[in-house]
Amino acid sequence: MSERILIVEDEKALRETLIYNLEREGYTVDGIADGISALDSARKNHPDLILLDIMLPRIDGFEVARTLRKEMNTPILMLTARNDEIDRVVGLEVGADDYMTKPFSMRELIARVRAMLRRVRLIREELAVENGEGEEKHELLVSGNLTLDVDRHVLMKDGQVIELKPKEFELIEYFFRHPGRVVSRDTLLQSLWGWEYTGDSRTVDVHVRWLREKIEQDPSNPQRLVTVRGAGYRFES
Ligand code: CA
Repeated sequence: MSERILIVEDEKALRETLIYNLEREGYTVDGIADGISALDSARKNHPDLILLDIMLPRIDGFEVARTLRKEMNTPILMLTARNDEIDRVVGLEVGADDYMTKPFSMRELIARVRAMLRRVRLIREELAVENGEGEEKHELLVSGNLTLDVDRHVLMKDGQVIELKPKEFELIEYFFRHPGRVVSRDTLLQSLWGWEYTGDSRTVDVHVRWLREKIEQDPSNPQRLVTVRGAGYRFES
């Protein structure tokens, strides 16, 4: 069965271009032009991925994302019209998993869609394993007072469970697997977000800030996830 994508975009020409290109990639695509219909479609069709414009008739993309987040964990890729940092940060905070700034190339969009759907499949496979539908595995990574249960997506600090968003989990897992090494923002963008282009490091910084608030004794003076000026971040064990 092909994966299903919901496109919410009121600009007709762009919506139709997106539908055309994604159907050509073999996906099943629903095209919707306003926020209320988007909620209806997502509830009815259970898409595997949602492409969500921000400025929409009836209710905007932020409100759509906020509402859907309470009901389902379908990944959301926000399409922002302006090169506006605030839009992006708000988008991430209301529950979007990623965003693209218009105009974008179809090639870039399809690469991003593929990367996001690949992660959905991996998570589903892990859940299947946990539910006994495959071979049981249980990988624990330990670093100082932090323990990461890779298969259950749980981080423990001094034995206490720390709630993580999916992207925070991916980020901390990456650091656990590359301890003591300087990792550039571009490397993180490419590895975790699947972005083909580089230079938009704000996303990484926002997630690092959130992680620090969860793992550092003093987030304003990080000792575990340290900034290496001009180079990136290093995870200290
Ligand atoms: Ca719009």
